[in-house]
Amino acid sequence: MKKKALFAIVAAGAMVVSLAACSSGSNDGGGSGKGDGGLIGVAMPTKSSERWIADGNAVKSQLEEQGFKVDLQYAEDDIPTQVSQIENMITKGAEALIIASIDGTTLTSVLQDAADADIPVIAYDRLIRDTENVNYYASFDNFKVGQQQATSLLNGLGLTDLEGKAAADAPKGPFNIELFAGSLDDNNAFFFFDGAMDVLQPLIDDKTLVVKSKQTKIEQVATLRWDGETAQSRMEDILTSTYSDGSKVNAVLSPYDGISRGIISALEGAGYSTGAEWPIISGQDAELDSVKAINGGEQYSTIFKDTRKLASVAVDMAVALLNGDKPEVNNTKDYDNGKKVVDSYLLDSQIVVKDNVTKVLVDSGYWTDAEING
Ligand code: BGC
Repeated sequence: MKKKALFAIVAAGAMVVSLAACSSGSNDGGGSGKGDGGLIGVAMPTKSSERWIADGNAVKSQLEEQGFKVDLQYAEDDIPTQVSQIENMITKGAEALIIASIDGTTLTSVLQDAADADIPVIAYDRLIRDTENVNYYASFDNFKVGQQQATSLLNGLGLTDLEGKAAADAPKGPFNIELFAGSLDDNNAFFFFDGAMDVLQPLIDDKTLVVKSKQTKIEQVATLRWDGETAQSRMEDILTSTYSDGSKVNAVLSPYDGISRGIISALEGAGYSTGAEWPIISGQDAELDSVKAINGGEQYSTIFKDTRKLASVAVDMAVALLNGDKPEVNNTKDYDNGKKVVDSYLLDSQIVVKDNVTKVLVDSGYWTDAEING
């Protein structure tokens, strides 16, 4: 009898082990995780941008589906608030942290506390810099996002197709272009700008494109905290200082929809009207107001990054780590955070212009037709 009972326990144990083995290393978001009711801390930068709300909701619901409790916090772009939110998560006993940082260089000390408590950390969309204590990075191919932003501008100017192939009947130009970048404390800002300049620089060199303000360095064109009003006032300054001779700006590289909206306000304020004289403006995130602006002809393009997929990658990484498995990655060389190269899973992004709004955004269920056209 005793022997039989012992066998049953061993067999049950073996089953648990083999079930755990089955669930390892897959990126299918298939609900096979630890799900022991443990707490996961999710730190997001701000609710002032739609995308982070969508990210936070997607991560939370996917973790809850797998049986975890979630502490989801937004820091309204205030660094000390984000640090104390993460400290709280550690105090409350979080088993893992998923963090989209505000300033990627300010979490070194709080992440040492996480490491001391053996809590794995996933950097969400934005690389966390200057620390050993970040285990994995889930993001998009950010250099490619920048290339896509620039390519969309060339497409809008009639120079190329959306893949960047030169148009047969391309106009000669020259076209006046102005450049905007994101926040210098966000590692992504450099990847977006470098990717964009990879496409634009050859055309600046051959004088098809002219940066009339001469502001071409990322330090000159950056926008602290990706703030739309900051971008609006820089655009107003450029229009006054550089374009009051009657010349027109033909294209504006914008790295984010909120910045694009600031640029649009500055143009409207300076008397530009949509139509032939209106510049080609890029963006990023497919925010609802900007998708409407694309349909209305004020913004030419945005870059769609599916936050649902990003959430799924980050959730799978956290669950794998909690199971003692190795998360799936597809890039182990590009994201050096100053202390180490962080193993990453990078998703693809898509250019959105008026012609493919429905195909890319509605057919994928990201926005409904009523939301976009209502
Ligand atoms: C994200 C972008 C976003 C920007 C501003 C970046 O880190 O990758 O998607 O537009 O932050 O929120």
